[in-house]
Amino acid sequence: MNDFDVFIIGGGAAGLFMAKCLDGSGLKVAIAESNARVGKKLLATGNGKCNLTNLDLNYAHYNNPRYVEQYLSRFGAVETINAFEKFGLLTKVIDKRVYPYSECAATVLDVLRLRLKVDLYPDTTVTSLTPKGEGYKILAKCGEETKVYYSKAVALATGSPSTFGKDSLELYKKLGHSASKFRPSLCPIKVDKNAIKGLSGVRIKGGVRFNGRYEVGEILFKDFALSGIAIFNMSGEIARGARGDIISIDFMPERSLAEVETLLTKKSAPVNCAGELLEGIFHSKVKERLITYSGFSYETPAKECISALAKNIKDYKIKIEGNLDFSMSQVSSGGLDVNQFDCFESKLHKNLYAIGEVLDIDGDCGGYNLQWCWTSAYLAADKIKREFLRG
Ligand SMILES: Cc1cc2nc3c(=O)[nH]c(=O)nc-3n(C[C@H](O)[C@H](O)[C@H](O)COP(=O)(O)OP(=O)(O)OC[C@H]3O[C@@H](n4cnc5c(N)ncnc54)[C@H](O)[C@@H]3O)c2cc1C
Repeated sequence: MNDFDVFIIGGGAAGLFMAKCLDGSGLKVAIAESNARVGKKLLATGNGKCNLTNLDLNYAHYNNPRYVEQYLSRFGAVETINAFEKFGLLTKVIDKRVYPYSECAATVLDVLRLRLKVDLYPDTTVTSLTPKGEGYKILAKCGEETKVYYSKAVALATGSPSTFGKDSLELYKKLGHSASKFRPSLCPIKVDKNAIKGLSGVRIKGGVRFNGRYEVGEILFKDFALSGIAIFNMSGEIARGARGDIISIDFMPERSLAEVETLLTKKSAPVNCAGELLEGIFHSKVKERLITYSGFSYETPAKECISALAKNIKDYKIKIEGNLDFSMSQVSSGGLDVNQFDCFESKLHKNLYAIGEVLDIDGDCGGYNLQWCWTSAYLAADKIKREFLRG
Protein backbone atom coordinates (compact mmCIF):
# COMPACT_ATOMS: atom_id res chain seq x y z
CA MET A 1 0.00 0.00 0.00
CA ASN A 2 1.26 3.47 -0.87
CA ASP A 3 -0.23 5.03 2.26
CA PHE A 4 2.10 6.70 4.73
CA ASP A 5 2.08 8.74 7.89
CA VAL A 6 5.01 10.87 6.76
CA PHE A 7 6.21 11.23 3.17
CA ILE A 8 9.57 12.98 2.85
CA ILE A 9 10.33 14.53 -0.55
CA GLY A 10 14.12 14.56 -0.91
CA GLY A 11 16.75 12.20 0.46
CA GLY A 12 19.41 14.79 1.28
CA ALA A 13 20.86 15.69 4.68
CA ALA A 14 17.59 17.14 6.00
CA GLY A 15 15.31 14.38 4.69
CA LEU A 16 17.53 11.57 5.95
CA PHE A 17 18.00 13.14 9.37
CA MET A 18 14.25 13.59 9.71
CA ALA A 19 13.64 9.95 8.77
CA LYS A 20 16.25 8.89 11.31
CA CYS A 21 14.57 10.99 14.02
CA LEU A 22 11.21 9.38 13.21
CA ASP A 23 12.69 5.88 13.18
CA GLY A 24 11.30 3.61 15.88
CA SER A 25 8.28 5.88 16.48
CA GLY A 26 5.92 3.43 14.82
CA LEU A 27 5.03 5.97 12.12
CA LYS A 28 5.13 4.71 8.54
CA VAL A 29 7.67 6.84 6.70
CA ALA A 30 8.72 7.08 3.03
CA ILE A 31 11.45 9.01 1.21
CA ALA A 32 11.28 9.85 -2.51
CA GLU A 33 14.58 10.88 -4.06
CA SER A 34 15.19 12.10 -7.63
CA ASN A 35 18.74 10.80 -7.72
CA ALA A 36 19.63 7.11 -7.95
CA ARG A 37 20.99 7.30 -4.38
CA VAL A 38 20.19 9.29 -1.29
CA GLY A 39 22.77 11.60 0.28
CA LYS A 40 24.73 12.37 -2.89
CA LYS A 41 25.44 15.98 -1.86
CA LEU A 42 26.21 14.94 1.71
CA LEU A 43 29.07 12.76 0.44
CA ALA A 44 30.67 15.83 -1.19
CA THR A 45 30.52 18.02 1.91
CA GLY A 46 33.60 19.42 3.62
CA ASN A 47 35.84 18.21 0.80
CA GLY A 48 34.61 14.67 1.48
CA LYS A 49 35.11 15.07 5.26
CA CYS A 50 31.67 16.54 6.11
CA ASN A 51 31.85 19.52 8.43
CA LEU A 52 28.76 18.57 10.45
CA THR A 53 28.42 21.67 12.60
CA ASN A 54 30.38 24.34 14.45
CA LEU A 55 30.85 24.90 18.19
CA ASP A 56 30.70 28.64 17.44
CA LEU A 57 27.05 28.77 16.42
CA ASN A 58 26.87 32.56 16.28
CA TYR A 59 23.56 33.35 14.57
CA ALA A 60 25.24 36.15 12.61
CA HIS A 61 26.63 33.42 10.36
CA TYR A 62 23.15 33.13 8.83
CA ASN A 63 21.17 35.39 6.45
CA ASN A 64 18.34 35.67 8.98
CA PRO A 65 19.90 35.55 12.47
CA ARG A 66 16.74 36.39 14.42
CA TYR A 67 14.76 33.68 12.70
CA VAL A 68 17.31 30.89 13.14
CA GLU A 69 17.99 31.80 16.78
CA GLN A 70 14.62 30.52 18.02
CA TYR A 71 15.39 27.08 16.59
CA LEU A 72 19.17 26.78 16.91
CA SER A 73 18.81 27.64 20.60
CA ARG A 74 16.63 24.53 20.96
CA PHE A 75 18.70 22.17 18.83
CA GLY A 76 22.23 23.42 18.29
CA ALA A 77 25.73 21.99 17.96
CA VAL A 78 25.74 20.06 21.26
CA GLU A 79 22.36 18.47 20.56
CA THR A 80 23.57 17.58 17.06
CA ILE A 81 26.72 15.89 18.36
CA ASN A 82 24.64 13.99 20.94
CA ALA A 83 22.08 12.92 18.37
CA PHE A 84 24.77 11.64 16.01
CA GLU A 85 26.49 9.83 18.88
CA LYS A 86 23.17 8.14 19.62
CA PHE A 87 23.07 7.04 15.98
CA GLY A 88 26.57 5.61 16.49
CA LEU A 89 28.77 8.35 15.00
CA LEU A 90 31.94 9.36 16.79
CA THR A 91 32.84 13.00 16.14
CA LYS A 92 35.94 15.17 16.47
CA VAL A 93 36.50 18.91 16.67
CA ILE A 94 39.07 20.76 14.58
CA ASP A 95 39.17 24.55 15.22
CA LYS A 96 35.57 24.51 16.50
CA ARG A 97 34.43 22.69 13.36
CA VAL A 98 32.85 19.31 14.05
CA TYR A 99 33.63 16.35 11.76
CA PRO A 100 33.04 12.63 11.90
CA TYR A 101 35.99 11.01 13.67
CA SER A 102 36.75 9.17 10.42
CA GLU A 103 36.95 12.54 8.59
CA CYS A 104 34.92 10.79 5.93
CA ALA A 105 31.46 12.01 4.85
CA ALA A 106 30.41 8.47 3.91
CA THR A 107 30.54 7.54 7.62
CA VAL A 108 27.82 10.13 8.31
CA LEU A 109 25.64 8.72 5.54
CA ASP A 110 26.29 5.19 6.83
CA VAL A 111 24.98 5.94 10.33
CA LEU A 112 21.96 7.82 8.96
CA ARG A 113 21.05 4.78 6.88
CA LEU A 114 21.96 2.17 9.51
CA ARG A 115 18.88 0.02 10.28
CA LEU A 116 16.68 2.86 8.95
CA LYS A 117 13.17 1.50 8.45
CA VAL A 118 11.61 3.63 5.73
CA ASP A 119 10.20 2.92 2.30
CA LEU A 120 12.86 4.36 0.05
CA TYR A 121 12.02 5.37 -3.54
CA PRO A 122 15.15 6.33 -5.50
CA ASP A 123 14.99 7.68 -9.07
CA THR A 124 11.61 9.08 -8.11
CA THR A 125 10.78 12.72 -8.70
CA VAL A 126 7.69 14.16 -7.08
CA THR A 127 5.78 16.17 -9.68
CA SER A 128 2.57 17.06 -7.91
CA LEU A 129 1.39 17.52 -4.37
CA THR A 130 -2.25 18.21 -3.51
CA PRO A 131 -4.19 18.30 -0.24
CA LYS A 132 -6.56 15.32 -0.15
CA GLY A 133 -8.95 14.69 2.75
CA GLU A 134 -6.92 14.73 5.97
CA GLY A 135 -3.62 14.38 4.12
CA TYR A 136 -1.94 14.67 0.74
CA LYS A 137 -1.92 12.99 -2.66
CA ILE A 138 1.55 12.79 -4.17
CA LEU A 139 2.33 12.05 -7.83
CA ALA A 140 5.85 11.05 -8.78
CA LYS A 141 7.73 10.09 -11.93
CA CYS A 142 9.92 7.01 -11.88
CA GLY A 143 11.20 6.50 -15.42
CA GLU A 144 8.12 6.39 -17.63
CA GLU A 145 5.87 5.37 -14.77
CA THR A 146 3.73 7.77 -12.72
CA LYS A 147 3.32 6.62 -9.15
CA VAL A 148 0.66 7.73 -6.67
CA TYR A 149 1.18 7.94 -2.92
CA TYR A 150 -0.97 9.17 -0.05
CA SER A 151 0.33 10.48 3.21
CA LYS A 152 -1.04 12.19 6.33
CA ALA A 153 2.02 14.45 6.58
CA VAL A 154 4.50 15.59 3.95
CA ALA A 155 7.96 17.04 4.48
CA LEU A 156 9.47 19.21 1.76
CA ALA A 157 13.17 18.42 1.96
CA THR A 158 14.06 19.14 -1.64
CA GLY A 159 17.01 21.43 -0.89
CA SER A 160 18.35 23.69 -3.60
CA PRO A 161 19.75 23.41 -7.15
CA SER A 162 23.35 23.81 -5.91
CA THR A 163 25.71 20.90 -6.85
CA PHE A 164 23.71 17.67 -7.57
CA GLY A 165 20.51 19.41 -6.44
CA LYS A 166 17.19 20.36 -7.95
CA ASP A 167 14.82 23.32 -7.80
CA SER A 168 11.38 22.08 -6.80
CA LEU A 169 9.94 25.40 -5.60
CA GLU A 170 7.23 25.39 -8.30
CA LEU A 171 5.58 22.44 -6.54
CA TYR A 172 5.07 24.49 -3.40
CA LYS A 173 4.10 27.71 -5.12
CA LYS A 174 1.09 25.80 -6.48
CA LEU A 175 0.10 25.25 -2.84
CA GLY A 176 0.10 29.00 -2.25
CA HIS A 177 3.57 29.23 -0.71
CA SER A 178 5.78 32.18 -1.58
CA ALA A 179 9.43 31.70 -2.39
CA SER A 180 12.29 33.84 -3.54
CA LYS A 181 14.29 32.62 -6.51
CA PHE A 182 17.35 30.50 -5.71
CA ARG A 183 20.73 32.17 -6.32
CA PRO A 184 24.08 30.36 -6.19
CA SER A 185 26.02 31.05 -2.99
CA LEU A 186 29.24 29.81 -1.33
CA CYS A 187 30.89 29.59 -4.72
CA PRO A 188 33.82 31.16 -6.62
CA ILE A 189 33.37 34.79 -7.63
CA LYS A 190 33.98 35.77 -11.24
CA VAL A 191 36.22 38.83 -11.42
CA ASP A 192 38.01 41.04 -13.96
CA LYS A 193 40.54 38.55 -15.31
CA ASN A 194 43.13 41.24 -16.03
CA ALA A 195 43.36 42.07 -12.34
CA ILE A 196 44.43 38.49 -11.51
CA LYS A 197 46.43 37.79 -14.66
CA GLY A 198 49.27 35.33 -14.05
CA LEU A 199 48.00 34.26 -10.62
CA SER A 200 46.02 31.17 -11.71
CA GLY A 201 46.72 28.25 -9.37
CA VAL A 202 48.23 30.38 -6.59
CA ARG A 203 46.83 29.76 -3.09
CA ILE A 204 47.42 32.24 -0.26
CA LYS A 205 46.16 32.95 3.24
CA GLY A 206 44.91 36.49 2.92
CA GLY A 207 42.25 38.93 3.97
CA VAL A 208 39.17 39.64 1.88
CA ARG A 209 37.16 42.83 2.22
CA PHE A 210 33.73 43.23 0.66
CA ASN A 211 30.56 45.08 1.49
CA GLY A 212 31.84 46.16 4.92
CA ARG A 213 32.86 42.61 5.83
CA TYR A 214 36.49 41.54 6.34
CA GLU A 215 37.60 37.95 6.72
CA VAL A 216 40.94 36.17 6.73
CA GLY A 217 41.20 32.76 5.11
CA GLU A 218 42.33 30.76 2.15
CA ILE A 219 42.14 32.46 -1.25
CA LEU A 220 42.63 30.51 -4.44
CA PHE A 221 43.23 32.33 -7.73
CA LYS A 222 41.72 30.86 -10.88
CA ASP A 223 41.93 32.09 -14.50
CA PHE A 224 38.90 34.34 -14.21
CA ALA A 225 37.65 33.82 -10.66
CA LEU A 226 38.57 33.82 -6.98
CA SER A 227 37.86 30.82 -4.79
CA GLY A 228 38.53 29.58 -1.23
CA ILE A 229 36.55 29.78 2.00
CA ALA A 230 36.96 33.53 2.61
CA ILE A 231 35.79 34.19 -0.96
CA PHE A 232 32.87 31.75 -0.62
CA ASN A 233 31.58 33.66 2.38
CA MET A 234 31.71 36.90 0.36
CA SER A 235 29.82 35.18 -2.47
CA GLY A 236 27.07 34.70 0.11
CA GLU A 237 26.89 38.49 0.48
CA ILE A 238 26.57 38.83 -3.31
CA ALA A 239 23.86 36.15 -3.45
CA ARG A 240 21.94 38.03 -0.78
CA GLY A 241 22.01 41.18 -2.91
CA ALA A 242 25.09 43.15 -1.75
CA ARG A 243 25.61 46.06 -4.11
CA GLY A 244 29.43 46.56 -4.10
CA ASP A 245 31.33 45.74 -7.28
CA ILE A 246 34.87 45.78 -5.85
CA ILE A 247 36.45 43.08 -3.72
CA SER A 248 39.74 43.84 -2.01
CA ILE A 249 42.51 41.39 -1.17
CA ASP A 250 44.87 41.93 1.75
CA PHE A 251 48.07 40.03 0.98
CA MET A 252 49.50 40.61 4.48
CA PRO A 253 46.59 40.33 6.90
CA GLU A 254 48.74 40.06 10.03
CA ARG A 255 50.40 43.47 9.45
CA SER A 256 48.98 46.99 9.32
CA LEU A 257 49.68 49.31 6.38
CA ALA A 258 52.26 51.19 8.47
CA GLU A 259 53.97 47.90 9.38
CA VAL A 260 54.11 46.84 5.72
CA GLU A 261 55.64 50.21 4.81
CA THR A 262 58.24 49.81 7.59
CA LEU A 263 59.03 46.30 6.40
CA LEU A 264 59.54 47.47 2.80
CA THR A 265 61.54 50.51 3.90
CA LYS A 266 63.91 48.28 5.89
CA LYS A 267 64.19 45.89 2.95
CA SER A 268 64.90 48.74 0.54
CA ALA A 269 68.15 49.65 2.33
CA PRO A 270 70.24 46.86 0.75
CA VAL A 271 68.15 46.39 -2.44
CA ASN A 272 67.67 48.86 -5.22
CA CYS A 273 64.74 47.77 -7.40
CA ALA A 274 61.06 46.79 -7.14
CA GLY A 275 61.79 43.18 -8.19
CA GLU A 276 64.17 42.65 -5.29
CA LEU A 277 61.99 44.54 -2.81
CA LEU A 278 59.26 41.89 -2.79
CA GLU A 279 61.67 38.95 -3.23
CA GLY A 280 61.45 36.46 -0.37
CA ILE A 281 58.09 37.77 0.82
CA PHE A 282 55.59 36.57 -1.76
CA HIS A 283 55.09 33.79 -4.27
CA SER A 284 56.89 34.94 -7.44
CA LYS A 285 53.57 35.26 -9.32
CA VAL A 286 52.12 37.45 -6.56
CA LYS A 287 55.27 39.57 -6.60
CA GLU A 288 55.01 40.04 -10.35
CA ARG A 289 51.31 40.90 -10.18
CA LEU A 290 51.74 43.46 -7.40
CA ILE A 291 54.51 45.22 -9.29
CA THR A 292 52.58 45.30 -12.59
CA TYR A 293 49.32 46.31 -10.91
CA SER A 294 51.11 49.19 -9.18
CA GLY A 295 52.38 50.44 -12.53
CA PHE A 296 56.05 49.62 -11.93
CA SER A 297 58.62 47.39 -13.59
CA TYR A 298 61.14 45.12 -11.87
CA GLU A 299 63.78 47.80 -12.47
CA THR A 300 61.89 50.70 -10.87
CA PRO A 301 64.06 52.06 -8.03
CA ALA A 302 62.89 50.45 -4.75
CA LYS A 303 62.48 53.71 -2.83
CA GLU A 304 60.02 55.04 -5.44
CA CYS A 305 57.59 52.15 -5.03
CA ILE A 306 57.37 51.51 -1.29
CA SER A 307 54.28 53.53 -0.58
CA ALA A 308 52.22 52.33 -3.61
CA LEU A 309 53.28 48.70 -3.19
CA ALA A 310 52.42 48.72 0.53
CA LYS A 311 49.01 50.19 -0.26
CA ASN A 312 48.27 47.56 -2.91
CA ILE A 313 49.57 44.72 -0.71
CA LYS A 314 46.99 45.73 1.89
CA ASP A 315 44.16 46.77 -0.44
CA TYR A 316 44.35 45.08 -3.84
CA LYS A 317 41.13 46.08 -5.55
CA ILE A 318 39.48 43.74 -8.05
CA LYS A 319 36.28 44.36 -10.01
CA ILE A 320 33.61 41.73 -9.45
CA GLU A 321 31.54 40.29 -12.29
CA GLY A 322 29.30 38.01 -10.18
CA ASN A 323 28.97 34.58 -8.61
CA LEU A 324 29.62 31.44 -10.65
CA ASP A 325 26.67 29.12 -11.33
CA PHE A 326 24.81 26.50 -9.25
CA SER A 327 27.10 23.68 -10.37
CA MET A 328 29.96 25.45 -8.56
CA SER A 329 27.99 26.48 -5.48
CA GLN A 330 27.68 24.75 -2.13
CA VAL A 331 24.36 26.30 -1.19
CA SER A 332 21.70 28.58 -2.63
CA SER A 333 20.30 31.79 -1.24
CA GLY A 334 16.55 32.08 -1.56
CA GLY A 335 13.81 29.50 -1.07
CA LEU A 336 10.52 29.21 0.76
CA ASP A 337 9.38 32.23 2.76
CA VAL A 338 10.02 31.26 6.39
CA ASN A 339 7.23 33.52 7.64
CA GLN A 340 4.71 31.05 6.24
CA PHE A 341 5.97 28.31 8.57
CA ASP A 342 5.68 27.84 12.30
CA CYS A 343 8.28 25.47 13.68
CA PHE A 344 8.64 24.14 10.12
CA GLU A 345 4.91 23.41 9.70
CA SER A 346 3.11 25.37 7.00
CA LYS A 347 0.69 28.00 8.26
CA LEU A 348 -1.32 27.43 5.06
CA HIS A 349 -1.60 23.63 5.10
CA LYS A 350 -1.73 21.44 8.18
CA ASN A 351 0.82 18.63 8.37
CA LEU A 352 2.92 20.11 5.56
CA TYR A 353 6.49 20.69 6.71
CA ALA A 354 9.58 22.25 5.11
CA ILE A 355 13.10 21.53 6.33
CA GLY A 356 16.71 22.23 5.33
CA GLU A 357 17.88 24.37 2.49
CA VAL A 358 14.54 24.59 0.67
CA LEU A 359 13.71 27.26 3.26
CA ASP A 360 15.12 30.74 2.69
CA ILE A 361 17.96 30.21 5.17
CA ASP A 362 21.62 29.99 4.28
CA GLY A 363 24.79 30.29 6.29
CA ASP A 364 28.53 30.75 5.98
CA CYS A 365 31.03 27.96 5.34
CA GLY A 366 31.90 26.07 8.50
CA GLY A 367 29.10 23.59 9.19
CA TYR A 368 26.31 26.19 9.43
CA ASN A 369 24.28 24.89 6.51
CA LEU A 370 24.23 21.28 7.62
CA GLN A 371 23.40 22.46 11.14
CA TRP A 372 20.31 24.14 9.72
CA CYS A 373 19.33 20.80 8.13
CA TRP A 374 19.76 18.89 11.42
CA THR A 375 17.93 21.54 13.47
CA SER A 376 14.93 21.88 11.18
CA ALA A 377 14.66 18.13 10.59
CA TYR A 378 14.85 17.28 14.29
CA LEU A 379 12.29 19.89 15.37
CA ALA A 380 9.88 18.99 12.56
CA ALA A 381 10.14 15.28 13.42
CA ASP A 382 9.57 16.10 17.07
CA LYS A 383 6.46 18.12 16.24
CA ILE A 384 5.08 15.35 14.05
CA LYS A 385 5.65 12.75 16.76
CA ARG A 386 3.90 14.90 19.38
CA GLU A 387 1.01 15.55 17.00
CA PHE A 388 0.55 12.01 15.68
CA LEU A 389 1.40 9.96 18.73
CA ARG A 390 -0.56 12.06 21.24
CA GLY A 391 -2.38 9.90 23.79
C1 LIG B 1 30.59 20.53 -2.39
C2 LIG B 1 29.75 20.89 -1.18
C3 LIG B 1 30.36 20.94 0.07
C4 LIG B 1 29.60 21.31 1.20
N1 LIG B 1 30.20 21.25 2.42
C5 LIG B 1 29.47 21.54 3.53
C6 LIG B 1 30.02 21.38 4.82
O1 LIG B 1 31.13 20.84 5.01
N2 LIG B 1 29.26 21.77 5.89
C7 LIG B 1 28.00 22.30 5.75
O2 LIG B 1 27.38 22.65 6.73
N3 LIG B 1 27.43 22.39 4.53
C8 LIG B 1 28.12 22.01 3.43
N4 LIG B 1 27.53 22.08 2.20
C9 LIG B 1 26.10 22.50 2.11
C10 LIG B 1 25.18 21.34 2.52
O3 LIG B 1 25.61 20.18 1.87
C11 LIG B 1 23.73 21.64 2.15
O4 LIG B 1 23.32 22.81 2.77
C12 LIG B 1 22.83 20.49 2.57
O5 LIG B 1 23.27 19.27 2.01
C13 LIG B 1 21.39 20.73 2.15
O6 LIG B 1 20.66 19.59 2.49
P1 LIG B 1 19.13 19.45 2.08
O7 LIG B 1 18.74 18.07 2.51
O8 LIG B 1 18.33 20.58 2.57
O9 LIG B 1 19.13 19.57 0.50
P2 LIG B 1 19.88 18.69 -0.60
O10 LIG B 1 21.14 18.17 -0.10
O11 LIG B 1 19.87 19.54 -1.83
O12 LIG B 1 18.92 17.44 -0.79
C14 LIG B 1 17.65 17.56 -1.37
C15 LIG B 1 17.37 16.30 -2.15
O13 LIG B 1 16.05 16.39 -2.67
C16 LIG B 1 16.05 15.81 -3.96
N5 LIG B 1 14.90 16.38 -4.69
C17 LIG B 1 14.73 17.66 -5.11
N6 LIG B 1 13.54 17.80 -5.70
C18 LIG B 1 12.93 16.58 -5.67
C19 LIG B 1 11.67 16.09 -6.12
N7 LIG B 1 10.77 16.89 -6.72
N8 LIG B 1 11.39 14.79 -5.90
C20 LIG B 1 12.27 13.96 -5.28
N9 LIG B 1 13.48 14.38 -4.84
C21 LIG B 1 13.80 15.67 -5.02
C22 LIG B 1 17.39 16.19 -4.55
O14 LIG B 1 17.76 15.27 -5.56
C23 LIG B 1 18.30 16.11 -3.33
O15 LIG B 1 18.94 14.88 -3.20
C24 LIG B 1 28.23 21.68 1.07
C25 LIG B 1 27.63 21.60 -0.19
C26 LIG B 1 28.38 21.20 -1.30
C27 LIG B 1 27.69 21.11 -2.64
